[in-house]
Amino acid sequence: MAEIIDGKAVAAAVKERIRKDAIRFQKTSKITPGLAVVLVGNDPASKIYVRNKKKACEEVGFKSFEYVLPAETPEIVLLELIDTLNRDPNIHGILVQLPLPKHIDEDEIIAAINPKKDVDCFHPVNVGKLVTGSADFAPCTPAGVMELIKSTGTEVAGKRCVVVGRSNIVGKPMAMLLLQANGTVTICHSKTENLGDVCREADILVAAVGKPKLITGDMIKPGAVVIDVGMNRDANGKLCGDVDFKAASKVAGFITPVPGGVGPMTIAMLMENTYSAAKLSVVK
Ligand code: NDP
Repeated sequence: MAEIIDGKAVAAAVKERIRKDAIRFQKTSKITPGLAVVLVGNDPASKIYVRNKKKACEEVGFKSFEYVLPAETPEIVLLELIDTLNRDPNIHGILVQLPLPKHIDEDEIIAAINPKKDVDCFHPVNVGKLVTGSADFAPCTPAGVMELIKSTGTEVAGKRCVVVGRSNIVGKPMAMLLLQANGTVTICHSKTENLGDVCREADILVAAVGKPKLITGDMIKPGAVVIDVGMNRDANGKLCGDVDFKAASKVAGFITPVPGGVGPMTIAMLMENTYSAAKLSVVK
C-alpha cells in the first residue's frame, strides 16, 4: 500500500518556516511582506480562494490587501489599480484572481503586473526566466508539487518523470521544475497515444488534467510517486482528483489524496513567493 502524502502537514511546515524567516527579515529590514489580491466579480469559488489567501497571510504574519471590484469593471480601471499596486511599497506581491470576466483581456492584465511582484509567476518575463532557470519565483501549484515530492525523500535527479497535462499554469511549468531538478521528463496531453504505456514508465507521475479517474491503477509503475493535481467533482458532487486513488494506492509508493494533497500547498507556496518578492524589494 502506498504511503499517503499529507499535503496539509507539509503546507503547515512550509508556512511555519516562512513565518519564522519573515520575523527575522522584519527585524533587519523593517519590512512586513504584503500581498494584494484582486477579485473582479462574484464567482463563489474565487471568493473562497481569496478568503483562504487572506487567512494564510494572517497565519504567516503578512499584510493582506483585498480589492473586490464589480464584474462590469472596465479593463482600464483594473489596469489603473494594478499600476497603483505596482508603485505601492507596502505591497510586494500582486495576485489577480483568475478567471476574469470575458470583457477583460487576461494576458494584458498579467503583463501589466510588475514582474517582481508577480507572485503567481504568470508574467511572460517570469515564464521566460523559469525556462532559462533564472526565476525569482516558481508558479505556486508546481512549486508545491516539488515540495511534496521532496517530502517523500525521493531524489528527482535521474528519475523518469511524466506530467499529464500541458497547461501554462500547471503542466508546462511543472515539467520545467522537474527538468531543472534533473528529472527525465515527458509531457502528455489529449493527443498523446498510449497514455497508459507512457505513465507506466514514470517513477514520478504528476496528473494535472481535470478528468476524474483518468489515471487508473494499471497505469502506475509499482512504487512510483503519484501526485494528483486534479480538482474535480465526481457524479455525487464529491471533490476528487484525476487519479483513481483506491486502485492507484495499491500500486504506488507514495500518493497524494484529493482533497488534502496539492491544494494546501498552492497557498503555502504563494506565501513563499510573497516573501521572496519582499526580499527582492530590498535588493539593489
Ligand atoms: P487545463 O484544462 O488548462 O489543462 C488540462 C490539460 O489536460 C491539457 O493540457 C489537456 O491536453 C490535458 N488533457 C485533457 N484530456 C486529456 C486526456 N484524455 N489525456 C491526457 N491529457 C489530457 O487544466 P489546468 O492545468 O488548469 O488544471 C488541471 C487540473 O488541475 C484541474 O482539475 C484543475 O482544477 C486542477 N488545479 C488544481 C490546483 C490546485 O491547487 N490543486 C491548481 C490549478 C489547477 P490538451 O492541451 O491537448 O488540450
